[in-house]
Amino acid sequence: MFEEYTNGNLPNLKEMKAKNYDNIDASQEPDVHGIAVLTSGGDAPGMNATIRAIIRAGINSGYKMMGVTRGYHGLWKGEIKELGSRDVSETLQRGGTFLMTARSKSFETPEGVLQGAKMCQVFGVDCMVVVGGDGSFRGARDLARIGIPVIGIPGTIDNDVACTEYTIGFDTAMNTAMEAIDKLRDTASSHERCSVIEVMGRHAGYIALNVGIATGAEIILLPEQPWDINEVVRTILACRNKGKRHYIVIVAEGAGSATEIAKQIEEATEIESRPTILGHLQRGGSPTLRDRTMASLMGVHAIECIKNKKMNRLVVYKNGEITDVDIEEGLSLQKTISMEDLERSKLLT
Ligand code: ATP
Repeated sequence: MFEEYTNGNLPNLKEMKAKNYDNIDASQEPDVHGIAVLTSGGDAPGMNATIRAIIRAGINSGYKMMGVTRGYHGLWKGEIKELGSRDVSETLQRGGTFLMTARSKSFETPEGVLQGAKMCQVFGVDCMVVVGGDGSFRGARDLARIGIPVIGIPGTIDNDVACTEYTIGFDTAMNTAMEAIDKLRDTASSHERCSVIEVMGRHAGYIALNVGIATGAEIILLPEQPWDINEVVRTILACRNKGKRHYIVIVAEGAGSATEIAKQIEEATEIESRPTILGHLQRGGSPTLRDRTMASLMGVHAIECIKNKKMNRLVVYKNGEITDVDIEEGLSLQKTISMEDLERSKLLT
């Protein structure tokens, strides 16, 4: 479908968008022989389990299976190799992604997408399975628009993909953060301190909100909700006046800096306040049971979509079921965090 672009006339993105995506009829999809998988964006625990499931379900369904290293960057460079069942042995329980991941600015240009599509042709990739977040799905959609069939699987610790209620890696990241915060609470309690803990979430506060509720934080600060340091100070002093002797403040990285907030609290209250940034600790570790099962079943679902010639779909978790939605439709949705849950958490302090 993209041959017309390979004669040196590179299209611009607008032209690509106007192309035939809307007219793709699933029954007209070309026969699929080769399927490749890539992981993209930030790594998430359970990505390995997802790759394993895709590769094994694909081989058992008769496809030639391939892996692309370093996400779209690797696709662009042609870093594609065949994977067998044994190549994914011992990966289910391992954190990270053995295919590695990267953020590739080049892929965000029409030339980059075209180069990726050409590599698919060179290596006989008839369908690309992309494991990542919203950004990665936008890359996949661009490939779909120039005729490379794609399937997306949500793999990001942020759980910020609108069309799915769950993303692979979220459960492990939350549990890792919760265990770390429990330990910080022990020491904050012994020293009668305020512990200000920064968790991941540049644009979305799902980790902060859930972990804050699970660890009994006095204050939870989210990027989605404006906050005021005076209110933070007032809440801590109100807790102290009720007899509390240690305090936990959870701040999502997109909502502010733990270091700065701890400094301001200490200056205003004279309560010793210590910042901790959990950082990349939250990305690593062996995936939880939930992440392993979701990864495995979502991986199999991706192959089922391909077998049924349902292309350009995102595998999603909705109303207790793994299902799939059209990639364009899925990407057009906006996810909103539950402010009611934030209010409810305030009743627990
Ligand atoms: P996470 O939120 O977990 O980091 P993500 O998939 O949202 O995951 P991004 O860094 O936003 O992570 O995107 C990953 C890669 O997807 C980018 O480096 C880029 O190669 C590709 N990508 C992102 N946006 C686009 C776009 N609009 N068009 C084409 N490719 C894109």
